[in-house]
Amino acid sequence: MAADPRPQVLAGGTDFMVEVNYDHRRPTAVMSLRRVDELRGWRRHGDRLTVGAGLRYVDMLESEFEVSAPALAQAARTVGSPQIRNTGTIGGNVATASPAGDTLPVLYALDAEVTVSSTRGDRVVPIQELIVGPKRTTLAPDELIVSISIPVSKGPQEFLKIGVRNAMVIAVASVALVVDGDNRHIGCALGSVGPTIIRCSEAEAMAEAEIDWDRLHLPDPRVYETFGAMCAAASSPIDDHRSTSRYRRHGVYVLATRALMRAFEPGA
Ligand SMILES: Cc1cc2nc3c(=O)[nH]c(=O)nc-3n(C[C@H](O)[C@H](O)[C@H](O)COP(=O)(O)OP(=O)(O)OC[C@H]3O[C@@H](n4cnc5c(N)ncnc54)[C@H](O)[C@@H]3O)c2cc1C
Repeated sequence: MAADPRPQVLAGGTDFMVEVNYDHRRPTAVMSLRRVDELRGWRRHGDRLTVGAGLRYVDMLESEFEVSAPALAQAARTVGSPQIRNTGTIGGNVATASPAGDTLPVLYALDAEVTVSSTRGDRVVPIQELIVGPKRTTLAPDELIVSISIPVSKGPQEFLKIGVRNAMVIAVASVALVVDGDNRHIGCALGSVGPTIIRCSEAEAMAEAEIDWDRLHLPDPRVYETFGAMCAAASSPIDDHRSTSRYRRHGVYVLATRALMRAFEPGA
């Protein structure tokens, strides 16, 4: 990539080839990552996971991965169809930087760090600094996303998504929620309701203050709806061909309320 900037990077091709088909992209050369095994796996070191950029959605459904990163597994389960899950990768989802990318709210809620490499060396970038707008990143043309670092799950996690049907849809709204019982922290982020993923810092702080952390219990059930309303207030949706802003905001309210309830009342 350093020697010749022309080849465009191809991972699973599930975004790339759509752009080629619609004539939005005309590559003169392509560099496929498919046989770069180093990008594929995932490893656990202590309480962090390093997820290779080439990890496919189908790999995230393996039970060992799901135990360590339940919300990523839940997001992976909602992506596309079996064909898309068999080839699409997490690195491609991050590089595409769509506000509807399903792994992204989870990565924001987990404060993920992305390792990016070039012949100039590696840099580790917080996900919210790598993605700077709809389909815009700070990746230089010669840089490759190599891996993504996230904390191992230390409490309940949820990813919930609304679309016009249950499979093969782009999210109209999505919510990721992670509870970190060790550090007494809540992370919550919204997809498809703003130009980039939105973090719900005020709702997180409110819920953190209400939780009985010693028992991992939420004593006041009114907090669920207050949390949902605060997340809806943080959203910034637009009207488009997929939905109205009003429906999207209501969707966030319902999903965020439900996510917190499921985290603290299993079976809810
Ligand atoms: C039918 C269909 C259904 C879909 N459903 C969903 C869905 O439900 N949810 C969802 O989030 N997405 C969905 N998508 C979009 C797509 O599958 C995902 O965004 C997927 O993660 C893209 O990964 P990929 O490996 O296919 O990337 P590619 O298409 O190969 O690449 C996408 C972009 O990322 C760049 N890139 C890839 N890997 C790297 C890397 N390591 N470093 C730097 N740049 C890189 C490429 O150059 C390209 O610009 C769907 C797509 C289709 C066609």
